[in-house]
Amino acid sequence: MQARTPTGIETPSSGLASPSFGSGVLTPSYQQKPRLGHPGSFSRLRDLDEEQRDPKKKLLFELLKVYSPNDIRSIQESIVKHAEYSLARNRYSIDDFVACEAAALALRDRLLESWNDTQQYYMKKDVKRVYYLSLEFLMGRSLKNALTNANLEELFAASLKELGFDIEKLYEQEYDAALGNGGLGRLAACFLDSMATLNVPGWGYGIRYEYGMFRQKVIGGEQIEVPDYWLSRGNPWEIERLDVCYPVRFYGSFERLADGRALWTGGEVIQAIAFDVPVPGYDTYNTNNLRLWKALPFKEFDLDAFNRADYYKAIEAEERATAISAVLYPSDGTLAGKELRLKQEYFFVSATLQDAIRRFKKIPRSIKELPSKVCFQLNDTHPVIAIAEMMRILIDHEGLKFLEALEVTRSCFAYTNHTVMPEALEKWSVPLFESLLPRHLAIIYDINFNFLEQVRKKYPGDDGKLARLSIIEEGSVKMVRMAHLGIVGSFAVNGVAELHTQLLKTQVFPEFYELWPHKFQNKTNGITPRRWLLECNPALAEVISRWLESDSWVKYLSELRGILEHADNPEFQREWSEARLENKRRLAAFIHQVTGIQVEAGAMFDVHVKRIHEYKRQLLNILSLVHRYQYILSLDEASRKQMVPRVVIFAGKAAPGYKMAKNIIRLINDIGRVVNNDGRIGNLLKIVFLPNYNVSLAERIVAAADISQHISTAGTEASGTSNMKFSLNGCLIVGTLDGANIEIREEVGEENIFIFGLNAEQVVEERKKLDPSYPLNDKLTKVLELIESGALVDPGKHQEVLDSLRGGRDWYLVSADFESYLQMQQQVDEVFRDHPETWLKMSIHCTAGSGKFSSDRTISEYTRDIWRVEPCPCPEPVCPDSHGIVV
Ligand SMILES: *Cc1c(COP(=O)(O)O)cnc(C)c1O
Repeated sequence: MQARTPTGIETPSSGLASPSFGSGVLTPSYQQKPRLGHPGSFSRLRDLDEEQRDPKKKLLFELLKVYSPNDIRSIQESIVKHAEYSLARNRYSIDDFVACEAAALALRDRLLESWNDTQQYYMKKDVKRVYYLSLEFLMGRSLKNALTNANLEELFAASLKELGFDIEKLYEQEYDAALGNGGLGRLAACFLDSMATLNVPGWGYGIRYEYGMFRQKVIGGEQIEVPDYWLSRGNPWEIERLDVCYPVRFYGSFERLADGRALWTGGEVIQAIAFDVPVPGYDTYNTNNLRLWKALPFKEFDLDAFNRADYYKAIEAEERATAISAVLYPSDGTLAGKELRLKQEYFFVSATLQDAIRRFKKIPRSIKELPSKVCFQLNDTHPVIAIAEMMRILIDHEGLKFLEALEVTRSCFAYTNHTVMPEALEKWSVPLFESLLPRHLAIIYDINFNFLEQVRKKYPGDDGKLARLSIIEEGSVKMVRMAHLGIVGSFAVNGVAELHTQLLKTQVFPEFYELWPHKFQNKTNGITPRRWLLECNPALAEVISRWLESDSWVKYLSELRGILEHADNPEFQREWSEARLENKRRLAAFIHQVTGIQVEAGAMFDVHVKRIHEYKRQLLNILSLVHRYQYILSLDEASRKQMVPRVVIFAGKAAPGYKMAKNIIRLINDIGRVVNNDGRIGNLLKIVFLPNYNVSLAERIVAAADISQHISTAGTEASGTSNMKFSLNGCLIVGTLDGANIEIREEVGEENIFIFGLNAEQVVEERKKLDPSYPLNDKLTKVLELIESGALVDPGKHQEVLDSLRGGRDWYLVSADFESYLQMQQQVDEVFRDHPETWLKMSIHCTAGSGKFSSDRTISEYTRDIWRVEPCPCPEPVCPDSHGIVV
């Protein structure tokens, strides 16, 4: 992180003099720009008039009157103290891991000061709050991010350097927190960063899984799943809050009382314990919170069994409780229909609502005022059960009448849809619901009855419509449609890109749209520019800041347009290429280290990284590479010289139960082995599969890609966010007219993106033609036949994948798009080879046009159109030295 003067503009001279500034040299200007924790004696937030009259509180205030100081010596002291006092290490033998841990704790102290002050300030201002409910938070590593946001990286780097540690090495020591599957979970993490940065009083709520997303190994070309016990070496960022715990009930039965309430009793009661993770904003004094729940047995519950000396029964109860927060379901867009999953959903939602309502009630007022102070955003259907839980609390505990409760509930919830694929829309069987959450099922029936009455009035006699709209799906086993509950029980429903929202209105929920057009909104996803450019690509970020003579793009990402002014400047172009080339060299070394494959940084790096799924069409890519392989073999020496060397990099996990996705991984690895070991190919084509795709790996790859593939069948990818990450880093996109690709094209200009294939409307038409005699593209047929011939790989191993395209089964239209994909890839080659300057300018245009895709923009829109919350920036701390004596 480079130095910033008090105006937020770094001194150009220091930047020009030393190309690698930010390497630990402290500029005086830095110290004038305090962020979190403050050099010298900055007074803690002080609005404690009342407290100061209370002598006991006055003493407490005096005791922690100033923030932890941020001079090098104080930071060092803080780090070494943590090594000794918190980690019980001998301070003369601290290794990299302990240093990383101790540095994290030293930083955490500073974050907690700001965190406490922020929460106190929100409370004092009685702000309206947003709660972002998500079953997934894909946070990745935190040390660099927190240091960057707190503007303390340079100081910590310098402090550690004197102690003999290289901060870059310490970053690698940290565990990558993967409490999520993919895009949906990473979106939640980016949103937290933006909410804090924009001073929005917003907290995240989720589950503290003991085991996050499985670690992927690739052995013999196959995916092997290894448990991710990410807490094995502790987690310095979380604070266990034994003081914040709530009971959560399952099973049992209820009886209706005369006053309209119901009494739910029996069954099993467990506890939810809070773990807090501070979320610092960038360039602000605000620090928000991510609260994750852990499940524990209820103390009094097992006591009974113990008293009867029924030891095993007590242990069993303990196991049943802890199982709830034990593992993240590794599903991606597919349904995980397990009782335990429903338990997880209810568990975290119940604890969250109790917590939010307790906070609301700290000020005495009517529960009916809840919507003016609280908004819950539901990240997909996973937390939608919150709607029924809120109704239960309002009716059974707060004594509201049904319609009053419905009104309050509806005004508190907004639901984000993340998929158009019918097989991914969450449903729960009524019998399961009835046994696990009997009271909630009854409430859902009541909500549904009320809703269908409305529909019946508007569309008398249309029973088909009633059946289609009903929250309950009829059938041999009745099902609760969670998406319908989400729409009926909330005041806003949003899609995550323009096309996706359009499809929600016209294809997925057209009859709901007709009923409530005002409820449907679009909120195109975004990514945080802190992690996805400033931190993951410091070289490019430095070039950008220097040429813009400002780093305010980090907060106002649209300012990136300013670099277009220099797009034709050869010096700027040279620096741009050099920064990107350096990133490629680093990735090349990493690839060699991990896979043993030698790749050249001068080759085109062509990247396809995301969850493995048929709709994302890794298959289209790998089959085209077989075609390319054959094509290269067919060339004479002169033509070979014309060929652009390519390194094709795949990464991504397959859900363990998703056989076809695992087959695709195996095909990629098998084909890769053949191509990489064929001496005739040389460096013209390398195929690399990097195992264990996660946030840290994404950060490496994003900064080093020349082109990136986002080639889902049009109409299937809701938005995509990695397309935004790549574009922001100056990587060109090869993509279909799907999800946010369409908006990226609008922003960067159609001449700066490689779009191919059928559009969403054409996909609908083409699919109608799918029947057993549906013909496959000739080139594709040749590729399939070659694989089947056994000339490359053991044919039996891949029959299932190949057959999935034949006989009208090619639902994702690999064949229909094959030709236009090959042509587009040829065009990619030509531009890269014949017009390097054009390529470079396209790259610059991609970064320049990515401003819209900041999650700051997304969060501002949510804030304005849905949440209706005001930002609440914490005041700047007072410096007693310059403002007289405090207290
Ligand atoms: C951004 C991101 C994703 C989402 O990628 P898409 O290509 O948009 O599906 C998934 N996983 C990780 C680790 C990410 O960082």
